[in-house]
Amino acid sequence: MSVFKDVDMAPPVAVFNLTARYKEDKDPAKVNLGVGAYRTDEGKPWVLPVVRTVESQMAADSTLDHEYLPIAGLKTFTEAATRLALGDDSPALLQNRAGGFQALSGTGALRLGIDFLSRFGKSKTVYVSDPTWPNHMAIGRDAHFTEIKKYRYWDDKTKALNIDGMLEDLRNAPEHSVVILHGCAHNPTGVDPKKEQWEQIAEVMAAKKLFPFFDIAYQGFATGDLDADASSVRLFVKKEFELFVSQSFSKNFGLYNERVGNLAIVTQDNDSLMRVQSQLEKLARPMWSNPPNHGARIVATTLNNPSLFAEWKEAIRTMSSRVISMRALLKQKLKQLNTPGSWDHITDQIGMFSYTGLTSKQVDFIIQKYHVYLMQDGRINMCAVTNSNCDHIAAAIHDAVT
Ligand code: PMP
Repeated sequence: MSVFKDVDMAPPVAVFNLTARYKEDKDPAKVNLGVGAYRTDEGKPWVLPVVRTVESQMAADSTLDHEYLPIAGLKTFTEAATRLALGDDSPALLQNRAGGFQALSGTGALRLGIDFLSRFGKSKTVYVSDPTWPNHMAIGRDAHFTEIKKYRYWDDKTKALNIDGMLEDLRNAPEHSVVILHGCAHNPTGVDPKKEQWEQIAEVMAAKKLFPFFDIAYQGFATGDLDADASSVRLFVKKEFELFVSQSFSKNFGLYNERVGNLAIVTQDNDSLMRVQSQLEKLARPMWSNPPNHGARIVATTLNNPSLFAEWKEAIRTMSSRVISMRALLKQKLKQLNTPGSWDHITDQIGMFSYTGLTSKQVDFIIQKYHVYLMQDGRINMCAVTNSNCDHIAAAIHDAVT
């Protein structure tokens, strides 16, 4: 009898299951608005030209080898990534109390940081936004946080941020709880707090000694401006919080399968930073031992070279402006069809996703009748909308809500 006879079949991960169903679908008009990955207006994945350039330089460079990286990763990468999040003039960097630690993309950086806080933090309660990227809950659970709580975020009626609810929930949180905050381009809602609202959030969090853990998986994707997209993190650093930031280079470099991530750490002093980094090494060693080099080198080379950096910023603008124009187009098509309801939220929201407000039943209808695949909560990946498929998507939404 098998050792594994009592192992239950786990339900599939929703977003990957959706992609599998999409792949099996034979309909020529099918569209995948599920997984958060950028597509060109031809509906194709995009390797950024700067990535191609650096990869060919790397291939031709005979001095590069495949030796292990240090446990904490490629220093030129972690330093540049940390600067990218905190800003060159960050007080924490100037005072040597901020540093990075390479991890397996944003997910790995979150897991590493949350695991660390579970062992060394002052609380076993973690707060996530309602709704959030489902992996936040899973990571909290697997890192043995005893309580995974939600703070109010999205208001279904106004299709906007419920700032009062959010502040109230944070005010009622136990002291020292960890709070995961989306640095920009909130997933799935596409709704970010405004500057004054971030100020209010910081004020409540300081009063309750809550620990900010920023997840910034979309720097550059929200506004097209890397600095503007990191302003939430920088505000908290200026207010002298100790904090973690998980950074992903999946989206802004299109390096999804290379697993390029950084955990940026801001502490009160250099001594604390050294101790935290030393313990992170002890956590990473039995998990993945050393991080992968290829993607980290591409990012480090680009961030550390002014002309490659300029080229990358151009690519980010290309991606973010295409998304913004597709938001406008989809709204325009729905208006032309006289689809009931206001669709202003499509253009008000930012980043990769739009939280359409479609119900689960409407989603099923759209998938079945129109072969347009979207998440059950109504989230659509705006990057997969193109000039060619927008009519079809608008017709599907129109049909579902009328
Ligand atoms: N955080 C959020 C909010 C995300 O949406 C994602 C990607 N879907 C990630 C983190 C991490 O992605 P990756 O592990 O590819 O960096």
